[in-house]
Amino acid sequence: MNKKKFSIVTFGCQMNVHDSEKMAGVLQEQGYSFSCDPKDSDLIIFNTCSIREKAEQKFFSELGRIKTLKKKRPGLKIAVAGCIAQQGSDEILRRAPYVDFVFGPQNIALLGDLVKGSRTIATEDNPEIAEIDLPVRRTGTGRAWVTIMYGCNNFCSYCIVPYTRGRERSRPSSNILREVRGLAEEGFREVTLLGQNVNSYRSDLDFAELLRAVNLIKGIERVRFVTSHPRDLSDELIEAIRDSEKVCEQIHLPLQSGSDRILGLMNRRYSYDDYRRKIDSLRNNIGGISITTDIISGFPGEMSEDHDLTISALREICFDGIFAFKFSPRRGTRAALMENGLSDDVGSRRLSEVLAVQEAITERINKGLESSIMEILVEGVSETDREMLSGRTRTNKIVNFKAEGLSIGDLITVRILKSGKHSLIGEVV
Ligand code: SF4
Repeated sequence: MNKKKFSIVTFGCQMNVHDSEKMAGVLQEQGYSFSCDPKDSDLIIFNTCSIREKAEQKFFSELGRIKTLKKKRPGLKIAVAGCIAQQGSDEILRRAPYVDFVFGPQNIALLGDLVKGSRTIATEDNPEIAEIDLPVRRTGTGRAWVTIMYGCNNFCSYCIVPYTRGRERSRPSSNILREVRGLAEEGFREVTLLGQNVNSYRSDLDFAELLRAVNLIKGIERVRFVTSHPRDLSDELIEAIRDSEKVCEQIHLPLQSGSDRILGLMNRRYSYDDYRRKIDSLRNNIGGISITTDIISGFPGEMSEDHDLTISALREICFDGIFAFKFSPRRGTRAALMENGLSDDVGSRRLSEVLAVQEAITERINKGLESSIMEILVEGVSETDREMLSGRTRTNKIVNFKAEGLSIGDLITVRILKSGKHSLIGEVV
């Protein structure tokens, strides 16, 4: 008998990508097989993201398009998961009555029941989430994600995550370490420990202790983690990164704004000076560390002086790269109710300035890497040039290179020949 097929359309962050891997794992246990073509599937899941308006619009337009397919094949099941599902299950079912079921990020474990038609909506809070170990169908190439905690307690005023993913819940360290050991046995060389705010991980171990424990696992060569909150980046954690040879010299530390006034409105609970001191400590302790950040341009009430402070922060800190976005009000957050919203034009102009300033900095930093020798983990064929392979340095920079006879997961040494804005070209040495 032919197995039923499923496909998953994923929007948003690494957390969502990894959630999709868990959904795929659960479905495989239910006897489904994976298909990369939604048109050929018996079940299509949209794993949605509500962090920005654009992602939300894109999802609703894709959902609209799928209606025709459902008409042609009434047996096709359509499901909506992720943050939009969590926040607006009723709205989804009203706008798209052809959707069969809706479930939130805390209820992936129920997917087996949902496909059997047990219920239509599963969006309740799940206090047990950190105790449940779901099967995972990994799509990574030598690298794997490992969730260490769920949810967030920070309530940054612009962010929907604490409402969609619930409060912080840390997985028991024994479960995490067992999962990482299993990955090493399967041949994965790199793990990224995943959570909305990994720095506040706490079970019987804190995050610094967990990093030191993961560092000891044989077979794993590289350890990364994402995302960090500047307020929770402790001296102990910086020391653990410094002392653990497998923990890569790289951190993503969202700044969001260079203005203390705006940081206050965002409820980030650190000042620019606090942030700057942590950057100094990271750079003093961990040689060659690469630092990336997030910036939100055009937050409600942002004056031109605040924007200037963000620009000068970029120039002062010289990040390796940034992810910058124009503020987008998210329903249900405090920032969505704030007055003094900026016009689209002002937000866009400020965002362009932020991006232009950073682009020059990134280019300069990458230029400085030319001729250097770096270790990279081979990830597969390059996305930009199918004739080349691609890998990452410990500092998380993408290097494309030509080579034969290499496999995914190989650690090799390259010389950087040429730098670009988003990647480097290298040769195997
Ligand atoms: S730390 Fe702030 S921005 Fe990050 S997930 Fe939590 S509430 Fe959202």
